[in-house]
Amino acid sequence: MKTNLWSLARFLRHDDLSLPPHGCLLEAQRVSFAYNGRPVLRDVNLRVCPGQMVGVIGPNGAGKSTLIKILSRLLHPDEGRVSLGGQDLSHWGHAQLARHLAVVPQGAQLPETFTAWEVVLMGRTPYLGLLGSETPADMAVARRAMEETNTWHLASRFIGQLSGGERQRVVMARALAQEPRVLLLDEPTLHLDISHQLEILSLVRRFVDEQDLAVLAIFHDLNLAAQFCHELILLSQGRVFAQGRPEEVITASNIAAVYEAKVTILPHPRNGRPTVLPN
Ligand code: ADP
Repeated sequence: MKTNLWSLARFLRHDDLSLPPHGCLLEAQRVSFAYNGRPVLRDVNLRVCPGQMVGVIGPNGAGKSTLIKILSRLLHPDEGRVSLGGQDLSHWGHAQLARHLAVVPQGAQLPETFTAWEVVLMGRTPYLGLLGSETPADMAVARRAMEETNTWHLASRFIGQLSGGERQRVVMARALAQEPRVLLLDEPTLHLDISHQLEILSLVRRFVDEQDLAVLAIFHDLNLAAQFCHELILLSQGRVFAQGRPEEVITASNIAAVYEAKVTILPHPRNGRPTVLPN
């Protein structure tokens, strides 16, 4: 891990997470969930470890967003358990959880009349003391998050005046301002052009590599998932159909079975990662 201001700040935090013996921060064990009696997730097991980027792929309706909602405690599993730092998610206080786990939901609703700076500063809410006002240290973290996401120049702009890509980067800055150990992303590059897709994913991957961030992200684009993730989880009708390295999961037979699509998989010419081409 590189020593810099971010890792120093984390080192100084007194409530840091302990790592369970398996070394992973976030764990789902045999998680099942149903909406109004209709099963959506069945027996899902996963782990996300520091310095690891895990991608969740699968067709529409496979249960990916529901999984993120369960991992972030927006929904509670009907069966099984989710733990953070070895402790059941239900044991965590709200602010305590938000100091460790940040979520970038799909199509995050942002207050249009707030400035980008005000939105990013919201990421510091879990750290505020009784007086509820940000310290210079909070502001420094928020500014740094904006610089990292290339949004500092937008600080005084109102959210309503930002493009989709700019908003997405502001949401990412707010999540990073939480200084999380675990980051959950629901299709972080939806509606972004290829340049902004690569910018956001490279940024996330840099935090994974340099800050030991543990990331679980939903991907629509299989090629981006294969390029950026250490491990992939392929969901099909709420079950884990395949799990492992991208080349183990993105195979023509898995894609045919789960997406009902005929594709050719070729190794990427620069790094050998699987690349999906339509037949
Ligand atoms: P994905 O993210 O893979 O597209 P979702 O987790 O959004 O899948 O949805 C999984 C299934 O659960 C779908 O059939 C969807 O219609 C259903 N579903 C999602 N949200 C709700 C909800 N709030 N109430 C009832 N059913 C839902």
